Amino acid sequence: MIKTATSVAGDCMYCFEGYGRRVIVNDEVAEVWHEHRQTVVTACESFGVLMGTTSVDRREIWIEAVTTPMPRDRHSRFSFALRDPGHQRAVCRKFTSSDGRAIYLGTWHTHPEPVPKPSCIDRSDWVTCLRANRGRPLAFVLVGTKEVRVFVRSRGRFRPLQRRCKSDGFN
Ligand SMILES: [Zn+2]
Repeated sequence: MIKTATSVAGDCMYCFEGYGRRVIVNDEVAEVWHEHRQTVVTACESFGVLMGTTSVDRREIWIEAVTTPMPRDRHSRFSFALRDPGHQRAVCRKFTSSDGRAIYLGTWHTHPEPVPKPSCIDRSDWVTCLRANRGRPLAFVLVGTKEVRVFVRSRGRFRPLQRRCKSDGFN
């Protein structure tokens, strides 16, 4: 198949920028988030880890794969806990299969609200992730029922990046 301008734009279904950073999300990952949105009242929060590659200067990250809830995780409508060792195993597998290029890049989870806002628990979880992964350009994704938001730590706060690419498949 010939790669047209349209299909290239399709590859960049989600692109977020700000604070000197750019986060690009591939279609498969966007699809997973779309499927896990908490659009049903009884739906539990979904969550997982982000995996992918970074540019040499680490200002740009590509989210290429994510994990989804596993049997030993705990989750309710408003909270979750990544307990299953399968998430760590997935990161290791991805690292090996990419010859060490793909690494852990943060976490994602859903919120039962259209435009998701990080809770206090979210912010303290994210601080813990950053402390455990010093020097790594982590991003944190909230999947709302209408919008996906990407947060990075900048000047001591978590700040949302601006969405750059228009999507036609999500909404
Ligand atoms: Zn949350």
